[in-house]
Formats: sequence, structure tokens, C-alpha cells
Amino acid sequence: MTPETPGLHHVTAIAGDPQRNVDFYVDTLGLRLVKKTVNHDDPGTYHLYFGDGEGTPGTNITFFPWTDEGRPGQFGTGQTETTAYRIPPKSVDYWRDRLESRDVAVDVADRFGETVLRFEDPDGIGLELVAAGEAQRASDSASGESNATPWTEGPVPAEHQLRGFYGVTLAVDSIEATAAVLTDVLGYELEDEVDGRRRYRSAAGGPGSIVDLVETDVGRGRMGVGTVHHVAFTVKNVEEQEAWREAFADHGLSPTEVIDRKYFQSIYVREPGGVLFEMATTGPGFAVDEDPAELGTELVLPEHLEDERERIEAQLPPFDDPTVDASD
Ligand code: ZN
Repeated sequence: MTPETPGLHHVTAIAGDPQRNVDFYVDTLGLRLVKKTVNHDDPGTYHLYFGDGEGTPGTNITFFPWTDEGRPGQFGTGQTETTAYRIPPKSVDYWRDRLESRDVAVDVADRFGETVLRFEDPDGIGLELVAAGEAQRASDSASGESNATPWTEGPVPAEHQLRGFYGVTLAVDSIEATAAVLTDVLGYELEDEVDGRRRYRSAAGGPGSIVDLVETDVGRGRMGVGTVHHVAFTVKNVEEQEAWREAFADHGLSPTEVIDRKYFQSIYVREPGGVLFEMATTGPGFAVDEDPAELGTELVLPEHLEDERERIEAQLPPFDDPTVDASD
């Protein structure tokens, strides 16, 4: 069985100060904080997940906030240059105004016939909002209708809310080896190329199905605050993970065993261009340990860390969710 992925599951990056991170993703971008937990591999650091109203796979950008004392990263090859969310074409002016009114510098570009707003988060992580569907409106089902659920209590009106991922741009030293993983293992197809940017789309289609590859000569990136840690693609279920492990191994790569991340089951593999890929199952999802109405309101820990809760909580810097009334 050759497995297929519809596209992105989540993107995980390293932030500095957690309060600044939450303020930007919740209050400015209007995403919901859907999970407040710790990095399972480093419980002294939060793991914050921001997504749509339900934390649907394909909408979640997640962070390890290393605080402002954390080692700064350096953008370069083997890294994600930008993470792009979809917005409705009619929302371009809304978003440009919203970002600029908050002193976020916005570059507006036309790319493959679609309007792209490019900017950075407070830690320097590259983001884009793409007016998806402008180029191939409704005529191409592969462009994928949004599966995002509006967050009715969020600060952004539902009609303008981010609609989940559009795609990612990966920066590599040389495109070919990374392209081969996309086409030969992940089932992506070369769709277009403009100005050295090669666009690949998952054959299975769906939201978040775009991966763009660009070459850069700025040198090898260094992981740290302000850089993306890994990019995760969607896997149907845990049974499919063995087929993914085999497919990566057949390509000469070294995937990990399946790791239980509580909200999904994952394997990880470093692609030859240096980007860390993860394959994550759609389930069981964020409601596994919190009521859907209460997502992200409490610090939740994996069972094996519950005994250490007091010590863990004491060393995490406190922060407020800007949408939660502190007087409640
Ligand atoms: Zn991940």
C-alpha cells in the first residue's frame, strides 16, 4: 500500500517570550490557543498550540517558547522560510489594515496569480496570508476547500478568520534531493515554477497541500528562537505509519519509531535538504484531555509527567490568554 497525505498537519517553531507569542497569534492573528502543555522532550518549556475553533489538523501552528534567554536561531538552508495560511480573497484589505495598525510591516505580492501578504511574527518567523482561490476559483477541487472551524469567541470576525494552512516554503541548498522526497515518497507533484520557486502540490489534494521549494545561498540555518523546528504532514491513522516508515526507509532515509504525542501519533524523518519532517495522525485530537469548550485554558501534561506537575508549573513563566477575562 502506498500511503498518501493530503498535506500539512501542523508546523512547530521556536518562540521567545510566551506572552508575546500568545498575544500575537491570538490577539493579532485571531487563532485560538487550543492546547497549553509542555514539550514532551523538554518539560521545562511550554508547548503552545494555536489553531481554528477546534484545533483541526491542518490549522495548527505550535511553539516551544524558549523565553528571551533562549538561543537565537539563524535562518538558512534546511529551514522553513515561511508558513502560509489561507484567507478569503475578500479579506486581503482587512488583514493588511489589521497588521499595519499593529505595526506589523506587510509586503504585498502576486504569486502564481494569488495575492500574498508577507510579514514576520515578533520573533522573526516568516508568515504569509494567501488569498487562496483567486487564481483557480472553484474550478480546481485540488485547491481544497477549507476545513477550518470558525472560532466564534475570537477577536477576528468569522468571515475574515484564517482558514487553515495554505502551505510552506522550504529553503534548501539544492532543490533536487528535497524535491525527490516530495514526489517519490510524499506523493507531491510539480505544479509550477516562477523565479526559482518550485511549487509542489499533494496529489491527494486538500487544504495545506502546497510545498514551495526555493534555493538560497545564505548558508546552513541554525535552529533557535525565531526559526521553525519541523513541518508535519497528515497521516490518516496509526496503521498507516508503518507504510510511511517503509516508504522513507526505501528512499534511504531514517525515520524514527512511532512516538505517542498524546494528541496524535508521529514519526519524524530528516529530509536530505535538512528540514525535519513529521508524519502525524489526525486523531485522537485535542479533546482527548479537555472539553472542547475549554481547550487551552489549563496546563495539561502527559500522564507520565503528572507526578512532577508542581515542579514543572513552578519553573514555567506565567502568561495570560488575551481573550480570557482575568476577572473570571
Ligand atoms: Zn510536531
